[in-house]
Formats: sequence, C-alpha cells, structure tokens
Amino acid sequence: MIEHEVIVVGGGPAGSSAAWELVRNGVDCLVIDRETFPREKLCAGWITPEVLEALEFTPSDYPHRFLTFETLRISIRGLKLPYRSPQHSIRRYEFDRWLLERSGAPVATHNVRHVERDGDAFVLDGSFRCRYLVGAGGTRCPVYRDLFRAQHPRDKTLQVVTQELEFPFETPDRDCYLYFFHRGLAGYGWYVPKADGYVNVGIGGVADRLKARGDDIKRHWRGLIDDLLRRGLLDADPGEPGGYSYFLRSLHPEPRLGNAFVVGDAAGLATRDMCEGIGPAVESGLMAARAVLDREPFDLGGISAHTLGQPLARRALDRVLTGSPAQGSDAGKHRRSTVA
Ligand SMILES: Cc1cc2nc3c(=O)[nH]c(=O)nc-3n(C[C@H](O)[C@H](O)[C@H](O)COP(=O)(O)OP(=O)(O)OC[C@H]3O[C@@H](n4cnc5c(N)ncnc54)[C@H](O)[C@@H]3O)c2cc1C
Repeated sequence: MIEHEVIVVGGGPAGSSAAWELVRNGVDCLVIDRETFPREKLCAGWITPEVLEALEFTPSDYPHRFLTFETLRISIRGLKLPYRSPQHSIRRYEFDRWLLERSGAPVATHNVRHVERDGDAFVLDGSFRCRYLVGAGGTRCPVYRDLFRAQHPRDKTLQVVTQELEFPFETPDRDCYLYFFHRGLAGYGWYVPKADGYVNVGIGGVADRLKARGDDIKRHWRGLIDDLLRRGLLDADPGEPGGYSYFLRSLHPEPRLGNAFVVGDAAGLATRDMCEGIGPAVESGLMAARAVLDREPFDLGGISAHTLGQPLARRALDRVLTGSPAQGSDAGKHRRSTVA
C-alpha cells in the first residue's frame, strides 16, 4: 500500500494548485493522474490576470507561449462591442505540465477506478491510502463519482457541451473574438490567438437548451467556421474538432465531505456568465489545500460564480445560460479585472 497524508486525484490546474500550496507548506502529498504530462486538454486556454495573481507568477516567469490580448472583440447577435480588457492566453498542453512540475509534488501515473472510505482514511484501488483526499479529476472525477454523486448529483441543466480545435495559424491581429448567442445558441463561440502562430477556435452551449430545440452543437461549430472564413479570420477549414463537456456552477455546490474535497470541474465551478473554469479551478484547489492546512474554511462563497464585473451584463448572461440567475451578491465576488 502506498501511503501519503494527502492524495490529489488529477493534475490539471485544480490539482496542481492544491499540490503546490501543500508542498510549499511542507505537507506530504501525491498527485495521481491517468495521463502522462504533457497531455492534451480541450480548452481555449484563456486565463484572467487573477490566475497569475493566485499562482504568484508573472508573464516573464512563464517559459512557454504566452500572449496578452488587449481587446476583447465581443459580438452579441451581430452588435459589435470592442472592450479594452487585457487578458491572457496559454496552451494547456504546456501550461498544465509547467504547473504540475512547479508544484514539486511527486506524480503517479495511474487511472483511479475505485475510491472508498476506510475508517478516517481513503483507499484508492486497494493500492493508495491517505488521510485527506482532493478530487481534481475534472468532469468524470472518480472521487466525485464514488463519494459525492449519490448525495450531490449534478444539475443537468448546467451542463455545457463544446466543440474545439487548436492549430497552427498566424492570426491577422492579436485580439480575442467572442460571438455570443451565435445563430441563436445559448452560449458563445470564441477565437483565441496564442503566441507564436497558434489559434484556438471553439463553441460551447448549454446542452439542455440545445436538446430542447432539437439542436446540435456540431451544427453551431459549422456555422462558426463559415463565419470566421467569411470574415477572413481563417483561410481554410481547420478540420475536425474535439468535444468535451463540463458544468457551470450550481447555486448550492457541496464540495467537502469530511476530509474529502472536490475542486475545479469535479465540483462543477465554471462561471455562470462566461463559462470560465481555469480560475475557479485554481482558486478552489488553493482553498482545499488551505483547509487541509487548517488555515481557512473551505467556503466557495469566496470564489466568484461570475467572470464579469458589470452587474447587468453578468446577470443577463447568467439568465441566458442557466435560466435561473444567481441573486443578490451573485454567490461571491466577481473577477474584478475582467470586463468591469
Ligand atoms: C472546449 C473548452 C474550452 C474551454 N475554455 C476555457 C478557457 O478558455 N478558459 C477557462 O478558464 N476555462 C475554459 N474551459 C474550462 C476549463 O478547461 C476547465 O474548467 C479546467 O480545465 C478545469 O480544471 P481541472 O483541473 O478541474 O480539470 P482538468 O483540467 O480536466 O484536469 C483533470 C485531470 O484529472 C485527470 N483524471 C481524470 N480522471 C482520472 C482518473 N480516473 N484517474 C486519474 N486521473 C484522472 C485527467 O487526466 C486530467 O489531467 C474550457 C473547457 C472546454 C471543454
């Protein structure tokens, strides 16, 4: 039996952030991931300035492709709203490996299939044992599935489906384009340039809404590519996209059961207005680590349910995406440096 004080299942941004905070505070911690890093992760790779702040690095510390775009070129049903708001892009293939290595935690490559309690401890596949368990395995996290799902099923109305492709391409400018409600979609399409000649193109929408209309996210991908070709933002069909799904933040997430935590996509924490998942993954990973260290409570109220600062905009997008916008304080602070 391999024993550690803390085991983190999943080495994405949520898991590596938890491991980083634990290791730098002297806690014995193992990260288990089924993939060997670097690994592919479907994601546009847009990160907010808050992510850098939370992880205490600057662009010059980062050794891989990193681009700051100054303007978000937002289009809502054809209405163009350029917005100056410096944001960043990375490639997840590079970023996730860097974060995991930077955490300093040992990493075991293993596909976790079964998680169970054993008194006050947790046992994984009969081979790994720990006192604290952090489930950071994304949408299909085995910690969520085996310990949390029965009591806290996910809200299917908050599931987002996506189609996405990242490929080498010199973009005509270095701005990020966002197409809200593109062709009636409850969601948006994106065009996110990366440094050194890459771009990420994709589209995401609420699965339930698509189904209710007999619609299909693949049809919206086709429409987005046609529009990007027409606008000269692409010069050829980029080929077949990949698909993945994740969950927007519910109004009542239950991410802790005793000494077991779920963080990031495992807890379904993407923001309810912009579907931003990396920031909430990082913040919840750090928060779980600090709860293990007994430094602060594990309270998601401290993590934003929204990306946008402007109340009307975030309420409107929340309403379109979730159908039941968060009220009052909007379930936590907003991410202050994005659209103010
Ligand atoms: C197409 C798309 C575009 C997106 N674009 C953005 C964006 O631009 N900006 C943004 O902020 N968010 C974006 N998101 C959301 C963002 O990608 C996620 O919210 C974020 O990756 C969550 O991080 P995580 O660490 O929780 O999970 P993940 O990054 O999914 O990491 C989970 C890890 O767990 C491992 N794992 C899973 N199961 C097991 C198992 N059984 N045993 C061992 N290991 C396991 C996986 O291999 C993986 O490495 C996007 C999502 C999609 C699908």
